[in-house]
Amino acid sequence: MMTYDPSNIFAKILAGELPCHKVYEDDTALVMMDIFPQSKGHTLVLPKAPSRNLLDADPATLSAVMPLVQRVARAVEAVTKADGLRIAQFNEAPAGQTVFHLHFHIIPVYEGIALGAHGGGKADDAELAALAKNIAAKL
Ligand code: AMP
Repeated sequence: MMTYDPSNIFAKILAGELPCHKVYEDDTALVMMDIFPQSKGHTLVLPKAPSRNLLDADPATLSAVMPLVQRVARAVEAVTKADGLRIAQFNEAPAGQTVFHLHFHIIPVYEGIALGAHGGGKADDAELAALAKNIAAKL
């Protein structure tokens, strides 16, 4: 199994060394907007405990984070009025993982609108800030 690299970009965001559009934070997790969203409202839930992905995560971390994933999914749905939500989590590069700190994607799906590419274009900062605030208000 590959080991955790503490210099990954999400570790730096969790340490406060890099900025993010924060939705929510508690002792165990951080929720933020994906800055290269696949659709409007694409949100990420990051457990704070260091692990590369699901494979090396502590089961206690997974138990703690899933209720938060559900809470955030409901808030994202309420704000975006999405027709559906995709929850995704990638393990290692061949599977599509690009940042090697465990995170769960909450991706709103809108009927008739194709999802953007994984890791596509950067979203407008003002729009991300507004989404983060509105989702936080619904949590
Ligand atoms: P994954 O491919 O599952 O590792 O997902 C990494 C996700 O992080 C992608 O959807 C990227 O768009 C997103 N991402 C990369 N850098 C940042 C960043 N600085 N802030 C927020 N999201 C990011």
